[in-house]
Amino acid sequence: MGDVLPFKKKTAKEKHGKRIMCQSGFHKWEVMTEKKFDVKQGKLVTVYKCKRCGIIKNEAR
Ligand SMILES: [Zn+2]
Repeated sequence: MGDVLPFKKKTAKEKHGKRIMCQSGFHKWEVMTEKKFDVKQGKLVTVYKCKRCGIIKNEAR
């Protein structure tokens, strides 16, 4: 009784799990730039960046 369990930070296992998510294609996308003009596609695109692994993708709107 009265024992206080120390608050644990995220374990290495959890971090590894997140990386697995990215490797499996489940990225945590965050909008970087909305309505950026992509010269190659000739239209406006939204730029996304994964919060976890940092890769970037463009998506036409
Ligand atoms: Zn990712």
